[in-house]
Amino acid sequence: MKIEERISLSRYTTIGTGGPASAFARPETLNELHEALGWAREHELAIATVGLGSNLLVADDGVEALVLKLAGELAAVRVEGELLIAGGGAANAVALHRARAAGLGGFEFACAIPGTAGGGVWMNAGAYGSDWAGILERALVVDADGEHWQAAAELGLRYRHSDLRNGQVVAQVEFRLEQRPVEEIRAIVADLQRQRKAAQPTNKRTYGSVFKNPDHELSAGRMLEACGLKGFRIGGAQISPRHANFIENADGARSADAIALMTEARRRAWDRFGVELEHEVQFLGDFELLPLE
Ligand SMILES: Cc1cc2nc3c(=O)[nH]c(=O)nc-3n(C[C@H](O)[C@H](O)[C@H](O)COP(=O)(O)OP(=O)(O)OC[C@H]3O[C@@H](n4cnc5c(N)ncnc54)[C@H](O)[C@@H]3O)c2cc1C
Repeated sequence: MKIEERISLSRYTTIGTGGPASAFARPETLNELHEALGWAREHELAIATVGLGSNLLVADDGVEALVLKLAGELAAVRVEGELLIAGGGAANAVALHRARAAGLGGFEFACAIPGTAGGGVWMNAGAYGSDWAGILERALVVDADGEHWQAAAELGLRYRHSDLRNGQVVAQVEFRLEQRPVEEIRAIVADLQRQRKAAQPTNKRTYGSVFKNPDHELSAGRMLEACGLKGFRIGGAQISPRHANFIENADGARSADAIALMTEARRRAWDRFGVELEHEVQFLGDFELLPLE
């Protein structure tokens, strides 16, 4: 397995921003993953994993870490009985395709989530009333101390959150699905995709929901819309004119532009609603949002 230096991460994020990783590797097997973790320990580098970068903002200055992109066996998908077994780096679209081909239902909700099985565990990804927690049997978590299977209940999954810690890599995921006619699966997926297209920007570079929905009668999107932020732009990034909880790379955006927009959005939501919005997008690199007060 090759360890590369100074690889730009902008092509590994759906928003298309971000600087280089000091080191980058694509482990294809569990052995290679352990090798990479050992290498990072020797070089005193932190570990970070990228999936499809679909909820990720990488610092423009880059990341002082060994960044892993799981590939090969660690991104493959197979079916055993009613279990869908996906490598942590497997794209949700591939997993859904395999499930459908095997006549297994329950994963359709992921059709609108452009991430990986492992990224979904980290985020407890979900849509349309379902989430990873609802179908996850167990996940193989690997870190510098070794590997262990964790049952869904041990992962602390709740709304867009898991208890996984930096340095832990989800190498494999088992989902428990149920028999469902292929035509029914197709119809559910088509319906969900229609709903998604009607509500969100699907042809723009974004990182999905910027903020988690607060405990409030208004969603984050509705709140930011009420603050007059639809279409608001800083540098090359703009708040989507379609849905105010999305930031689009309108033209050569930098992560700093997105951060500036997020800071402004949080300030306005605080001033108008007294709500402190919490970011859903994950940060990689040395940056944080400014405190509100
Ligand atoms: C158009 C669009 C629509 C979206 N819609 C939804 C939606 O409906 N519901 C929803 O929940 N999300 C949605 N998202 C956000 C995103 O797709 C999900 O959060 C997804 O689960 C992220 O997966 P990823 O593989 O891309 O992770 P990344 O964005 O690459 O990473 C996210 C976090 O997970 C960590 N991570 C990734 N892979 C691993 C791994 N193997 N092991 C350990 N940690 C890992 C990363 O380090 C990072 O902290 C949307 C995004 C876009 C762009």
